Amino acid sequence: MSKKIIVVGGGAAGMLAAYFAAAAGNKITLLEKNEKLGKKIYITGKGRCNLTNACDVEELFLNVKSNSKFLYSAFYGFDNSMVIDFFESHGMPVKVERGNRVFPVSDKSSDVIFALQRALKEKKVEVLLHTEVSKLCYEKITDTKADEEATDKKTELKITGVILKDGTKIDADAVIVATGGLSYPSTGSTGDGYKMAEDAGHTVTECTPSLVPFNVKEEWVKSLQGLSLKNTAISIYSGKKKLYEDFGEMLFTHFGVSGPMILSASASIKQSLIKQPLDMYIDLKPALTQEALDKRILREFEEAKNKQFKNSINKLLPAKMIPVIIELSGIDPDKKVNEISKEERNRLLMLFKKLPVTLNGPRGYNEAIITKGGIKVKEINPSTMESKLVNGLYFAGEVLDLDAYTGGFNLQIAWSTGYLAGTSAAV
Ligand code: FAD
Repeated sequence: MSKKIIVVGGGAAGMLAAYFAAAAGNKITLLEKNEKLGKKIYITGKGRCNLTNACDVEELFLNVKSNSKFLYSAFYGFDNSMVIDFFESHGMPVKVERGNRVFPVSDKSSDVIFALQRALKEKKVEVLLHTEVSKLCYEKITDTKADEEATDKKTELKITGVILKDGTKIDADAVIVATGGLSYPSTGSTGDGYKMAEDAGHTVTECTPSLVPFNVKEEWVKSLQGLSLKNTAISIYSGKKKLYEDFGEMLFTHFGVSGPMILSASASIKQSLIKQPLDMYIDLKPALTQEALDKRILREFEEAKNKQFKNSINKLLPAKMIPVIIELSGIDPDKKVNEISKEERNRLLMLFKKLPVTLNGPRGYNEAIITKGGIKVKEINPSTMESKLVNGLYFAGEVLDLDAYTGGFNLQIAWSTGYLAGTSAAV
């Protein structure tokens, strides 16, 4: 007999869950509070949607930051190659870029949403937009199998449907909650699912913004706004303790620093430390040892020996950075290069190798790619995504205490858990 299943939230996880629950022949209603589906997908990957990562499946686990083991059935049930097949078979070819990042060939995140909409239509999923769910409904059931021994009687909760914001009740045999986290609330992710889960007796772990830029104390950073540094190394310290180091790309912004390395740092540094001021050192020339860089500077100085200092380091730094480094070096910009002392040259060398920046805490949810924390996964069956507390209640996507690094891994979590919740609820 076909079941009536409600999916709450028309994001990545909810749409996949609805599709696969419907593919098994059930009647599915997808409820989305926004005026359209997939608002967050639209802004992913800077509008291009990095929908997954074409790495080995084992590597998917390595890129999950919280509770990777919980994803065993989800990732193996619907892995990255199945994600690619799904989209290609729904008319959206993909391409693989640097770091195995997978994008639509068209470079348009809207094509990901169109492919999902086609898929939902194909399986006759009923989509109700402008439809906000306020509450889950459940009833108590008694396990009659345990009836003979009264002491073994087990009372459990069973989902019966949802209540909408306008008070309407919609009945269902199963409900899949895929309401997302708290980041970019303008896309509809306002933490509603956490409340629904708590009402049902679930624990929600502490939530914090992650994959998020940092504020910086030093004012000079503002003058570098928009400058992206590639092939740079960073190291981040709390006192003398090194918390993080990385090599790659970073970006200066009007408030501080962002870019892939910085976002990854925000996901890696312990929550207990992240809000305290931290010392970051930028190595602008990580390919050169201190000695080799000193020789390089000497060579530049030799060529420009009669020029002023301010005109001597053009070949060593991006133009925007030159006035900043000159000021921080404390060397008179008009000084003739052949008058620069060894001590002054050393100061300059240290700025190239260890440019100090004070990180003054992460930015908020409005700028966070992901929410760290969520519904405690110990209370969810990892083989089905069903609640261990309420029969027929399933969760999928970012609403769970799962988060990963950038590179397509967070959407892979949404697709895989959505698939697993959809196929499991369908049975
Ligand atoms: P969401 O996408 O948040 O969807 C939840 C949906 O539920 C929303 O549509 C919301 O309106 C709806 N909803 C909420 N409450 C209710 C309610 N009460 N009733 C009805 N509907 C409700 N990940 C990648 O892998 N690659 C990327 O390139 C990438 N880029 C990103 C860029 C940005 C700027 C951001 C913010 C995130 C990015 N991510 C990326 C992360 C990724 O988008 C998320 O991990 C993923 O979208 C989570 O999917 P979800 O379905 O769980 O939740």
